[in-house]
Amino acid sequence: MQTGSIGVKTENIFPVIKKFLYSENEIFLREIVSNAVDATNKLKTLASAGEFQGELGDLTIKVEIDKQKKTLTIRDNGIGMTSEEVDKYINQIAFSGATEFVEKFKTQTEAEAANIIGHFGLGFYSSFMVSNKVALITKSFRQTEEEKGVIWECDGSPEYTMNEIPKGTRGTDVILYISDDCEDFLEESKIRELLNKYCKFLSVPIQFGTKTVNEPIEGETDENGNQKTKSVEKPWIINDVAPLWKKSPSSIEDKEYDDFYHVLYPMNFETPLFHIHLNVDYPFNLTGILYFPKIKNRYEFQRNKIQLYCNEVFVTDSVEGILPEFLSMLHGVIDSPDIPLNVSRSFLQNDQNVKKISGYITKKVAEKLEELFKKDRAEYEKKWDDISVFIQYGMIADPKFFERAEKFMLFKDTDGKYYTIEEYKKLIEEKQKNKDNKLVYLYATDADEQYNNIENAKSKGYNVLLMDGILDSHLMSTFEQKFGDCSFARVDSASIDKLIEKEGDAKESKLNDEQKENIKKVFEEVIDKTSFNVEFSNLGEDDAPVEVIQNEWMRRMKDMSAMNGMSMWGTMPDSYTLMLNANNPVVAGLSDRSEEEQKDTIKKLYDLARLSKNLLKGKELNEFVKNSFEVMKK
Ligand code: ADP
Repeated sequence: MQTGSIGVKTENIFPVIKKFLYSENEIFLREIVSNAVDATNKLKTLASAGEFQGELGDLTIKVEIDKQKKTLTIRDNGIGMTSEEVDKYINQIAFSGATEFVEKFKTQTEAEAANIIGHFGLGFYSSFMVSNKVALITKSFRQTEEEKGVIWECDGSPEYTMNEIPKGTRGTDVILYISDDCEDFLEESKIRELLNKYCKFLSVPIQFGTKTVNEPIEGETDENGNQKTKSVEKPWIINDVAPLWKKSPSSIEDKEYDDFYHVLYPMNFETPLFHIHLNVDYPFNLTGILYFPKIKNRYEFQRNKIQLYCNEVFVTDSVEGILPEFLSMLHGVIDSPDIPLNVSRSFLQNDQNVKKISGYITKKVAEKLEELFKKDRAEYEKKWDDISVFIQYGMIADPKFFERAEKFMLFKDTDGKYYTIEEYKKLIEEKQKNKDNKLVYLYATDADEQYNNIENAKSKGYNVLLMDGILDSHLMSTFEQKFGDCSFARVDSASIDKLIEKEGDAKESKLNDEQKENIKKVFEEVIDKTSFNVEFSNLGEDDAPVEVIQNEWMRRMKDMSAMNGMSMWGTMPDSYTLMLNANNPVVAGLSDRSEEEQKDTIKKLYDLARLSKNLLKGKELNEFVKNSFEVMKK
């Protein structure tokens, strides 16, 4: 019998381990099962190198609960350890690793510590987070059948014991004596859930419990000639040892990608729009599959759906700090041993490898989109409404992505036609250049509400875009900054002739300044001055007498800040301008009328202008309708 104190340091790290990250103590299972997988894979490697010549036999790893003894056991048939190796790997290396880990994070608050990706580094000793005693029974593949194995036991103090124990087969059993306050780890449903979360794609079969399956009984059929079956208990293998992302893309059918999506997200019944298979081994190692989900609700995208793995071991589904925000709208898996996992997220953002990985993924995503666009434009246009939020987000957030996306980002006009940026520039170049030589992109945010203005613009030969997405305001600003020669204007942000004002456009006015001033005064007696002000324009005789317009800049600020959840602009009342066309006979004629007649006409103009913008509501709308009926009677 050998007893000893683990490690050189006398300080007892066990209480710290036990308390440490109690909220995430479930990762112990990941650590112990991945050790078993490593030990098994090492044996396979030795066998293929000819260094191990015995029978590999069944390599299935077994996870077992014994409720009576309150133990959870993880058994493998891997390389195992001799007693010298236990001393070296468990007592020394693993212990000093755990000590280092604990030392590093002991000074942090729980919240800071929880910020560490994956909590890698605690390894074997993480088992003490949930156990009051751990036993390890092991025998090395190098030992003969007659030789004894070794049992190492430790009750969570730095003292351990090591004894010989009869063990027939090679491999390791790790037995966790679960502490009273962690008894949910003795529940089958809990362990199944955790194995499913962390171990679903590990490369060695892992058995937990049994499953009832129907098996055909050979040669037996029922009276209808159907094959008879019997139900049998079969070992329940919880994992898929060859996950799709590890396979070569050329050997995979599209349907397999869709099926795999549903394996990853069993509760998500939508089929993704398309996928990207990632595979790189230099200058870093990364594999994975990303899916473009259907974004049903344009105002709410599901973030944090991507699962991060490290050598098939699940680490986290919060990729914040690892991937750029806009990529986190995608779904799928990323598997990379090159993402440092025992550091905090804020550290990660500055890590060179992580930067390269983000850059690579961004580039791949852009390439895939370009490929889809080039291959089948019609199909791409069909998908556009579903992917536009993602692409716009990328363009706003990442200048490199912007450059790439210029080729495949689409504008949609109010007739439902799609154009690339270049195509659209060509389309409007001739008619929509103003006197400052700027291209004016006219747009609507609501095709119904702005119907009048859209029709008016189209009748003058202009094109109107539909920009009703959540990120459109941001995108416009990005465009205006990038391309100094353009500006975006909502169709109702000024009279159309003002929006695209050309040299020599200025028309004569039928009203002089004094007449305008007088009319304005009467208007101001009638209208609600907190929301409306009055201005004059000199349009054509046939253009409408009055229009409600809303300043482009003010409205856009309001839209953007509403989206960002800032209240400063959001709570400000909307302000509108009543733009009077001095050349329309109704307006021009006002100056010849009595004040009473003026007021009457002005009230009607005011009501109609608001009605056309859906701004006439409640009592005022009711009165307007009633009055109109009265007029019909006369
Ligand atoms: P890590 O796995 O990161 O090396 P651990 O603390 O988890 O750190 O384990 C320390 C060492 O103990 C391993 O590197 C391995 O040599 C040995 N070990 C742990 N579990 C097993 C096992 N099931 N079979 C064989 N060796 C093991």
